[in-house]
Amino acid sequence: MPLALLKYGIQRKYKGNRYFPAAKPLRSAYDVVIIGGGGHGLACAYYLARDWGISDVAVLEKGWLASGNTARNTAIIRSNYLTPEGALFYEESMRLWRSLAGELGINLMYSERGHLTLAHTDAAIRTSRWRAEVNQHLGIDSELVGRDELAKLCPELNLSEDIRYPVLGALYHPPGAIARHDAVAWGYARGAMQSGVEIHQQTEVTGIQSLDDGSIELETDRGSISAGQVVQAVAGMSSELARMVGIKLPIRSVPLQACVSEALKPFLDPIVVSGSLHIYVSQSARGELVMGGATDPYPLYSTRSTLDFTEGLMANMLELFPFLENAKVLRQWAGIADMTPDFSPVMGITPVSNYYIDAGWGTWGFKATPVCGSCMAELAATGKAPELIKPFELERFSRMEQVGERGAASVGH
Ligand SMILES: Cc1cc2nc3c(=O)[nH]c(=O)nc-3n(C[C@H](O)[C@H](O)[C@H](O)COP(=O)(O)OP(=O)(O)OC[C@H]3O[C@@H](n4cnc5c(N)ncnc54)[C@H](O)[C@@H]3O)c2cc1C
Repeated sequence: MPLALLKYGIQRKYKGNRYFPAAKPLRSAYDVVIIGGGGHGLACAYYLARDWGISDVAVLEKGWLASGNTARNTAIIRSNYLTPEGALFYEESMRLWRSLAGELGINLMYSERGHLTLAHTDAAIRTSRWRAEVNQHLGIDSELVGRDELAKLCPELNLSEDIRYPVLGALYHPPGAIARHDAVAWGYARGAMQSGVEIHQQTEVTGIQSLDDGSIELETDRGSISAGQVVQAVAGMSSELARMVGIKLPIRSVPLQACVSEALKPFLDPIVVSGSLHIYVSQSARGELVMGGATDPYPLYSTRSTLDFTEGLMANMLELFPFLENAKVLRQWAGIADMTPDFSPVMGITPVSNYYIDAGWGTWGFKATPVCGSCMAELAATGKAPELIKPFELERFSRMEQVGERGAASVGH
């Protein structure tokens, strides 16, 4: 046996530097408990401590940090939404993203690539123009570009007119970016822990009760915990958790799949999205194509991948980039997307006092991580929803008001 194996592998006396401060024992009461150790829950914990001086906070995570959708997503960040409410909200997130790596002291690999939403029909051109005008009115960098401009922005794109859906133009959003998703969770987690927040992994919430004194009692697989306030940030499990405390959410939970190719020589700078072909793709720093498509057409809590998805996605990818005929798909996975009727999130107060909800993030919530964390922290600290998230309150559905983002939220809806 090689000596080095014995020396380093068995002795276990060479401790690396800990990235996270050591975990503390789980207590029976906290001022604030956040359910869900994904980007949103961790960001909320971080901003609660940083902006409001509230650090008697526990984040309860049933798996490990970012084990939900945070580390399953395709990491696209943009703010070119259709409604003023949506566009302004995501634009504030972009502002926070730009300084986040420096602030958290971790390389988030935030990379501004430009985001192209292809238009293959006259109707799509009209919608792109509409989005561009809303965006420009709000000061968001976004414009409709024609085929000539597109050929310069993405020379590898198949602009032949002899294909099923010839490309007529695109909505171009220069600040569109990608980032390293799990690093976002790690950075927020470390920042929160350094301010005294406790993060408890492998701790599942199994029951929730609102008590007469306004506190919330949480049952977990490690015992009961009393909380002054609770923030629920569990993405694909939102309906299940809300149901535990008696809240019914207008959410349909469906699998959303994605995959990556083998590493290829860099050729694709912008992020390319096609609503008609149901695909989106970006190329990572190490050359992998990160690809996704429409949500699966059936409600399900399973994260199994399917051959159907890969076959359909690859057929459509090849229409846009035929020279990839020999590229291999290396990995494939799925997360659970909580879809709302208007394709916008649900953030704010609930009918249960001191129980706040951060849900309905479907296929679009990664980009919102900083702004959502910051707004949910303000809500938990003050009891009042900041202006930016007021349009997204749960109550809007009982007033039949919607923040309609169906066309701008993602592909294939
Ligand atoms: C394939 C895919 C691609 C996507 N692409 C994009 C994209 O390109 N851009 C974009 O903006 N968004 C994208 N999204 C959406 C985005 O990933 C999510 O909206 C976002 O990550 C939600 O973050 P979160 O912190 O709320 O949820 P999560 O990261 O899912 O965190 C929630 C956590 O709650 C935990 N939890 C659940 N139940 C319990 C319980 N009972 N007790 C304790 N803990 C519990 C889970 O284990 C999980 O870790 C995509 C999603 C998927 C699945």
